[in-house]
Amino acid sequence: MSQDDCIFCKIVAGEIPSRTVFEDDVAMAFLDANPLAPGHTLVVPKEHYETLSEVPEDTAAHVFGVLHRLNTAVQNAVDAPAANVAFNDGPAAGQEVPHVHGHIIPRFEDDGGSPVHAVAGERPDLSDEKLDEIAVEIQNTE
Ligand code: 5GP
Ligand code: ZN
Repeated sequence: MSQDDCIFCKIVAGEIPSRTVFEDDVAMAFLDANPLAPGHTLVVPKEHYETLSEVPEDTAAHVFGVLHRLNTAVQNAVDAPAANVAFNDGPAAGQEVPHVHGHIIPRFEDDGGSPVHAVAGERPDLSDEKLDEIAVEIQNTE
């Protein structure tokens, strides 16, 4: 189901133009309009979901398959030796467009960028007990 005021739903519907690089029944990929690097590509499920936790697992697996294939194609197309492949999942993580999308951002030696570790704030100082507690909590919540 598309959402009326969603930019990416409008791209999926063909109401807003995009430089589409892949499309099938479930997913679509297009160049980012304001790229962080040549070849910066976004992969979206065609259905409107705001965050990853809303995406059904089969759709998520399909989107990841497209990301996996395109990651190689994008790097080859722009002759990049590397890429960051990432989702900003939720506004607190920097998600601005509320329609799930994976970024493929080609990376180059000495491009002045950072690893994905740089996206979070300061490293928290967590005790071994706290790490154990968090691991158990995740196991029990999954
Ligand atoms: P976010 O911060 O939500 O993870 O990333 C949103 C991305 O969408 C940004 O990199 C931005 O440049 C891109 N973007 C925003 N509006 C449009 C648009 O209308 N068309 C395309 N192709 N990309 C867009
Ligand atoms: Zn949408």
